[in-house]
Amino acid sequence: MDYQELIEEVYNEVMSANPRGKVADYIPELARVDGDKFGIALVDLEGNIFGAGDFEEPFSIQSISKVYTLTMVAGIFKNKLWSRVNVEPSGDPFNSIAQLEFEKGIPRNPFINAGALVITDALTSKFDDPIAEISKFINELTGKECTEINREVMDSELRHSERNTALGYFLKAYGNFENKVEEVVKTYVAHCAMEMSCVDLARSFSFLANDGYSIYAKREIVPESFARRINSLMLTCGFYDEAGEFAFRVGLPGKSGVGGGVASVMPHKFSIAVWSPELNEKGNSIKSIMALELLTDKLKFSLF
Ligand code: GLN
Repeated sequence: MDYQELIEEVYNEVMSANPRGKVADYIPELARVDGDKFGIALVDLEGNIFGAGDFEEPFSIQSISKVYTLTMVAGIFKNKLWSRVNVEPSGDPFNSIAQLEFEKGIPRNPFINAGALVITDALTSKFDDPIAEISKFINELTGKECTEINREVMDSELRHSERNTALGYFLKAYGNFENKVEEVVKTYVAHCAMEMSCVDLARSFSFLANDGYSIYAKREIVPESFARRINSLMLTCGFYDEAGEFAFRVGLPGKSGVGGGVASVMPHKFSIAVWSPELNEKGNSIKSIMALELLTDKLKFSLF
């Protein structure tokens, strides 16, 4: 399979269809990004890179960062983690508070904001400087220094963080939060405000296509059984209330962010990241999903 030819074909078809959406503006600073940007990077298990469009341009990774924090916490707390966060798709928007009450402060899964805040809380209990540790971890997975926090995006989200702060206090009311809510929200917002390119995202996700072993870090990041479980969570929960649609159309584990990025893996074959900032009404990138759907259609296989 000529991956370069494949992603160029996908790139050109998406560009000519040119589906449009809306750049996220609930974080005001994110609204300044150019909606026409579009890039695809695919990395195979030997580390060969295939790219099209704006694949080397850094962008706001937002919720894609939740995969890194989940992986760190899973490595540290092993199976104890699942007493604090569940593994069920929520069917609700990423920032929903509704189910937390019925579930007695145990978030439905680690990718909705409530779950990701619990994960960041666990990292805050473990490390004096969790942000430095998260950056170090991502750089190790990528094989180079690549994480830059965009301070404008971070400050912009912090000025509008009432909802995430409310989620933190709700979790605390149920005893599922160990640290100061504002401190954890600040760390959460900082890891969401990291910027990475498609190619670096694809490199950093490669361990999930490779049974937990990173060719960049040259070590097992998590045991194979955990890599499989993280992939299962991405497949069932990575797109929030659009997870079913993504599984139906693409059929791969993937994680989206409101910056317009999607990172995805084809286990035992490759990792891939796509970026285009215009989103659908569920907060997921229109062109990125279309690109991945075309990709698995052209390959004639997905997970299934
Ligand atoms: N930082 C964003 C938030 O909490 C991340 C959301 C996302 O990418 N879906 O609202």
